[in-house]
Amino acid sequence: MTASRQDFLEFICQTSPQPIGLEIDHAAGSYLYTKDGKRYLDFISGIGVANIGHAHPKVVAAVCAQAQKYLHVMVYGEYLLSPQIALAKKLVSLLPPPLNQVYFTNSGAEANEGALKLAKKYSGRRRLIAFEGSFHGDTHGACSVTGRDIYRRPFEPLLPEVSFLPFNKIEALDAIDAGVAAVITEAIQGEGGIRVPDDDFLPALRAQCDAVGALLIFDEVQTGFGRTGKHFAMEHWGVVPDLVTFAKGMGGGMPLGAFVGRRQLMTTLSTDPPLSHVTTFGGHPVSCAAALAGLDVLLDEGLAEQAEKKGAQIRQRLKRLAQKHKAIREIRGKGLMIGLELDSAESTQAFVRQVFDDGLILGWTLHSDRVIRIMPPLNLTENELEEGLQIIEKAWD
Ligand code: PMP
Repeated sequence: MTASRQDFLEFICQTSPQPIGLEIDHAAGSYLYTKDGKRYLDFISGIGVANIGHAHPKVVAAVCAQAQKYLHVMVYGEYLLSPQIALAKKLVSLLPPPLNQVYFTNSGAEANEGALKLAKKYSGRRRLIAFEGSFHGDTHGACSVTGRDIYRRPFEPLLPEVSFLPFNKIEALDAIDAGVAAVITEAIQGEGGIRVPDDDFLPALRAQCDAVGALLIFDEVQTGFGRTGKHFAMEHWGVVPDLVTFAKGMGGGMPLGAFVGRRQLMTTLSTDPPLSHVTTFGGHPVSCAAALAGLDVLLDEGLAEQAEKKGAQIRQRLKRLAQKHKAIREIRGKGLMIGLELDSAESTQAFVRQVFDDGLILGWTLHSDRVIRIMPPLNLTENELEEGLQIIEKAWD
């Protein structure tokens, strides 16, 4: 199959004036290989997807095996599909109680849509609270709770009765009252610039939701599946939400998302009226088979622990670099979800361009053009880690 840049620009809807535009030949492990024979070390993992690396052989084998049995057969929730059931059971075994029932979707935005709808139906309340700097997806509902006005304004009117609170400000949590159906937050803000809350913030948020009977939704779309050094970021604080949403790294490279809650809550979607939230492709058997294989890799290779260890290594090296270069303002994050904040958007762009020319893919976060996101595959080798760090260090020479 051949593809030209001109056809790409002409026939593919463009979402930015300057797409990276690499012509991919194949991808394996931590690298992307382009048609012109170059190799790029992927330190963003397709934005938090390739936690177990690109095209992991166990995932590819699971995809092929499932594809030979059956592809799509029925809308979500009607037939017994063994990849779905096995995956749901395994996922629940990794989650803290009472998160014990899974609704599969195709994407992160859709998982958040489902969680928000469920919270409204269950509680009979209408108001939603989210945080400034959050990102929850680009469908209308998910966009309504995304905390940056430039991405909401062109699409208004969006959902009514949504308010935004400052992230990581306990004093502001009093605004969550008994009229609130749900509060949605990332445990660590990704697109907001890799922002880790203080240790008392999420416990205080949980306590306030409990006090007024609002449901708490954690969006672990970017933080889940080992990325932050735990299977799920919520484990850093021991806070259990009423609903948690997943996607990205979940499918091992295939499209898959989910929202998970306690059975009594999830049952809301099957009555009054029945079929009140359905999807045709959510929980596609091939995606579930891929996810199951990916989860085995995550567990067998101890990737959460590896993320913890390698993340500490990277942060330490970056801190050394920051001591020499004043343009580096801050290094933050957990595990292999790392933010490198520079002094200006211009130096960020120049830096990303420079490392790209040297074969390393990095990028900034959606809401913060001064924060470089460092999120390599969790199973990158020591050599690959070293290669990436050397390219980064060279850019500062
Ligand atoms: N939530 C978070 C925290 C995300 O980072 C993203 C994607 N960047 C989404 C939701 C949306 O996921 P998707 O693109 O799969 O709809």
